[in-house]
Order: sequence, then C-alpha cells, then structure tokens
Amino acid sequence: MPEGISTDILIVGGGVAGLWLNARLRRLGYSTLLVDKGTLGGGQSVKSQGIIHGGTKYALQGALTGASEAIADMPRRWREALEGAGELDLTGVRLLSDAHYLWSPGTLAGNLTSFFASKAVRSRVGQVKGDELPPALQHPRFKGKVYRLAELVLDVPSLIARLAELAGDSLLAGRQIEPLLEHGELAGLRIDGRAVRAQRIVFSAGGGTAELLAALGLQQPAMQRRPLHMVLVKASTLKPLYAHCLGGGPKPRITVTSHPTADGQWLWYLGGELAEAAGVARDEAGQIAAAKKELAELVPWIDLTEAKWATLRIDRAEPAQSALARPDNAFLAEQGRLLVGWPTKLALSPDFADRIEAALTRDGIRPATHPPLPDLPRPAVTGPFWEGLL
Ligand SMILES: Cc1cc2nc3c(=O)[nH]c(=O)nc-3n(C[C@H](O)[C@H](O)[C@H](O)COP(=O)(O)OP(=O)(O)OC[C@H]3O[C@@H](n4cnc5c(N)ncnc54)[C@H](O)[C@@H]3O)c2cc1C
Repeated sequence: MPEGISTDILIVGGGVAGLWLNARLRRLGYSTLLVDKGTLGGGQSVKSQGIIHGGTKYALQGALTGASEAIADMPRRWREALEGAGELDLTGVRLLSDAHYLWSPGTLAGNLTSFFASKAVRSRVGQVKGDELPPALQHPRFKGKVYRLAELVLDVPSLIARLAELAGDSLLAGRQIEPLLEHGELAGLRIDGRAVRAQRIVFSAGGGTAELLAALGLQQPAMQRRPLHMVLVKASTLKPLYAHCLGGGPKPRITVTSHPTADGQWLWYLGGELAEAAGVARDEAGQIAAAKKELAELVPWIDLTEAKWATLRIDRAEPAQSALARPDNAFLAEQGRLLVGWPTKLALSPDFADRIEAALTRDGIRPATHPPLPDLPRPAVTGPFWEGLL
C-alpha cells in the first residue's frame, strides 16, 4: 500500500483550468496536488483554437450581458501574464497572434449592424484595410470588410508546457480515483490505492467530471457535451489567418486559426458553424468536402490542390444549461469540501481560479504545513495533436 499524502487542495484534471488554478494556488502558498489520468492538456485544451476571447463574438448574439463583461477583461489578464507581469508568469508561451479578426466576406450582414450598435464593442473594434489585413486576405480579389478585435491567439501546447512547469512537484499520474470517506464525509481521494487527504477537492476534469461525480454518487452539477467536427488543412500555400468569418446567422460561418507545423508549413484549424450540428452529422469525407467548398468560396485565390486534410471530432464539456444560453463565464458549484466546475472557455481559466480562490477565502481555508511529497509518477504533457493527424 503506497504511503498516504496530505495537501491543502487536491485538483483532479490537468487541462488548462486545473493547471492554471494549481499555479495560482501555489503562488498563494497553498500545497497542492494535481492528478490526471491522461496527458496534461490533452483533453479539450490542446484541441481548442487558443483564442483569448474578449466577448466580442458573443455580442453577435445580442446585447452584452453583465457576465460577458467578465470575459471582456480576459485579454488584458492574459496579456499581462504573457509579459510576466500578471497573476502567473507565462513568459515563453508563444503568442500566435496579437489580434483576432472579424471578417465579413460580402456586404455588411444584418447581424454585423446590430453588433456594432453595441457601444462596448465599438470601443474595442477597428476596421483594417490594405497591408493591415491578415496576410491570407491580402489579395486583389479580396472583397469584404475586416475588423480587428483586441483578442489574442495562443499556441496552446506551449501554454500547457509552461503551466506544467509552474506545477513543480505537484503533479501525479493516477488512473483509479475513488472517494476517501472518513466519518461519512469526503476527506480526500484514494488514487491508485494511495490515500490523499485535502482541505478542499476540486474536480476540473472537463468531460471526465460526470464520471468522477458518479463515483461519489452525485448527479449534480449536471454536465452537457456539445459535439464538434473540426477540420484541419495543411498546405505550403497557406498564410496565417485568425478570424471569424461572418455568415447570415448569429454564429460565425467559419472560425479559422493557424498553427505552425513541424515541417515549417501552416495548418488552418476550422471551427464555427462548419463544425457544429450539420458538420457533426457529416462523415469525414463529407465534412472535408464541405470545408473545401467554403474555402473555395471565401478565399478562391489560395491554391489548395496539394493540401492535406483531416477532421477531428471533439466534445466541448460544459455545465448543463438551456439550449439558447451560451456560457460566457466560468462555472463553479460547491458541495462541502468538493468544488466542481468548468471554465467553459480556455480564456476563462483565470475567472475559474478567481471563483475558487474566493470560496477558499470565504471558508477561511489557509495554507497549512504538510510533510514533503514522496516521489510520484508524473503525467505526460501533451504536444501539438495535429502532428499525428496530418
Ligand atoms: C474544438 C474546440 C475549440 C475551442 N476553442 C476555444 C478557443 O478558441 N478559446 C477558448 O477560450 N476556448 C475554446 N474552447 C473551449 C476550451 O477548450 C475548454 O473550455 C477548456 O479547454 C476546458 O479546459 P478544462 O481544463 O476544463 O478541460 P480539459 O482540457 O478537457 O482537461 C480535462 C483534463 O482532465 C483529465 N481527466 C478527465 N477525466 C479524469 C479523471 N476521471 N481523472 C483524472 N483526470 C481526468 C483529462 O485527462 C484532461 O487532462 C474550445 C473547445 C473545443 C472543443
């Protein structure tokens, strides 16, 4: 039987939410242990598009709500962290783009008009033309309007690597995770037979959280999965583009981010409406055909005859909610010692950590003294998942 461990905060799930929280708590002097059963960042996080939203995309769906003001502050917080002057030192994390763009391919669509009616958005958006356009759109045949959003795009594998570094010795690879009950109450978890006691336990396991809750006999908070069918295309003719391309509806017709590949090319990762319900219903060949058609219409000057294509099916894990509302702040629920949540967006990881820090402060949970951790098996850190697909 491996020896028992005690810590202040035990975190289950090392995606961006758990890793960010772990680094923040360590900075505050808490002892932590973060356990993951897979690779760090290898769930939704590395498969995200890495956009640090400021809420502008969501303003397309209507007025900005109070909650979307929390997201409005995320680009500033991440920018400060990237400069080494924020709540975490993220120097060395690769910034792929200093801006994300809104791209209206034809005449101004109705939704764009109402979008610009929002004062909060107007102040953060500026039109770009000529050589200020994203490189992929600088072509004589390009017709349309492009607006620069004060949002960032990050290279997620380098972000995960840095957050894993900030975790120091607090990482544990663990497969079998069971409740550790003492006097009928949750005292910690038993991880591959090792008892780990903690003042607070956080579940931040993305799509794996429902299963962890079930092991505790809990159904709440309920989770939902939103399936996506993303498309990847790699070609030597591609130049970087980070943009939401607007269609007629409230959601972007296509969201493009660009990622460097090991062989020195650019890969476009395509989400937005293309990857949602109709895209989910298509098989891989159908989804690639749909993406080819979109790009032939939107960027006909880019020669993709030699391009390599792939698709990726991935679920977003979020708290259950009504079909219409879209989460635009981090979610946290509490049951005694247990805190359970989803950031709902990579960009909102700081907000997720804020909520947990506030709960600890409210409950008077302070760093305590614990024996040093024994040598523990460490989970592997994820890399660029696209290298295995194309
Ligand atoms: C295609 C796509 C594009 C996206 N694009 C963006 C974007 O551009 N910007 C943005 O802000 N957000 C984006 N998101 C959302 C964002 O990716 C997620 O909100 C965020 O990554 C969730 O992080 P997480 O740490 O909660 O979960 P995850 O990254 O899924 O991490 C969960 C971790 O928990 C571990 N785990 C699971 N079950 C267990 C268990 N039982 N025991 C131990 N460990 C376990 C997993 O191994 C994993 O490491 C996107 C999502 C998708 C799917």
